[in-house]
Amino acid sequence: MGSHLRGISSKVIAAVIIVIILAVAAGVFLLGFKPGGVETYQLRILTGSTAGTYYPVGTAYAKLLNQYSEGRIDARALEGKASVGNIKDLCAGNAEAALAQNDISYYAYYGTTIEAFQGNPQTCIRAVGVLYPETIQIVVLADSGIKTLQDLAGKKVAVGNAGSGTYWNARQILEAAGLWDKIKPEYKTFKEVAEDLKLGNIDAAFLTAGIPTSAVEQIASEKPIRILEVPDEIYQKLKEKYPFYAQVVIPAGTYTGLNEDVKTVAVMSMLLVRADVPEDVVYQMAKILYEHADEIKQQVQKQSVQYISLEHALDGLSIPLHPGAYKYFEEKGIKVPDKFKPPES
Ligand code: GLU
Repeated sequence: MGSHLRGISSKVIAAVIIVIILAVAAGVFLLGFKPGGVETYQLRILTGSTAGTYYPVGTAYAKLLNQYSEGRIDARALEGKASVGNIKDLCAGNAEAALAQNDISYYAYYGTTIEAFQGNPQTCIRAVGVLYPETIQIVVLADSGIKTLQDLAGKKVAVGNAGSGTYWNARQILEAAGLWDKIKPEYKTFKEVAEDLKLGNIDAAFLTAGIPTSAVEQIASEKPIRILEVPDEIYQKLKEKYPFYAQVVIPAGTYTGLNEDVKTVAVMSMLLVRADVPEDVVYQMAKILYEHADEIKQQVQKQSVQYISLEHALDGLSIPLHPGAYKYFEEKGIKVPDKFKPPES
């Protein structure tokens, strides 16, 4: 009798254990709970064309988030339309994070300066931090006879795709040079630009991206290129209206056949998130970005990307931080100016 009862109770115990295991498995499967009770947050990061710099940086960063967030973040880098399109997509709920230029992010957040956002502020965006300089490169073929900005008059000029930040940089520079209504604008991605410049379908291309930019490397590996200078007087004019421009040099040797330094202008790239991304997720995003920056640099061996560091994390920041990023910088003893403190804190 006793042994019979023991037989039943061990069956009951086994059944209960099986039910518990099934329930936990269903919880993990249905709710995204990882063992240990961590809820996994799905994070889509919008980048740019595969021939740009956002894409490889975003891809390397997503890998680090998956590796170091202990199951909290499941990140994916997606091809994106670049700055303007990325910000619109972010606020439309099509992603949780994005790379974007600091000038464009400012115009978006405050609803100012460029038609894309004037009177239409994108208040959903917050900054995680600054990444690296993005250089405005005006590329032509060396044998084209185009030597200065003025030579672009009458030419087919790729001015970025419709949702890019490149477009606004091209437009502002060409307007400052009195050339915007004299060129034939072509709206193309970096990938298309690489092909079309080689084939002679376009005469010149503007690219705003970390250097060396893959699209430009692709062109230079097949045909000798020239990069046009943005002269001092154009820089002065630009700076008055658009304070985010800084004067920079593309060093000789950046591309095959580029034998001299080229003076041009640059803006900065930033990592953005939507304001409603949980604070602990953004805290981890900031921490992993700056504490594992060396691993991004190893994977994306580009000169501009070497700039990513905690030391430069607020250089050129243009919109307020997300509370999660703010918490991380405070912990690191970095003084955040009032205008960049999270509006919700
Ligand atoms: N900054 C560029 C833009 O918004 C994209 C750069 C890149 O894809 O690396 O137009």
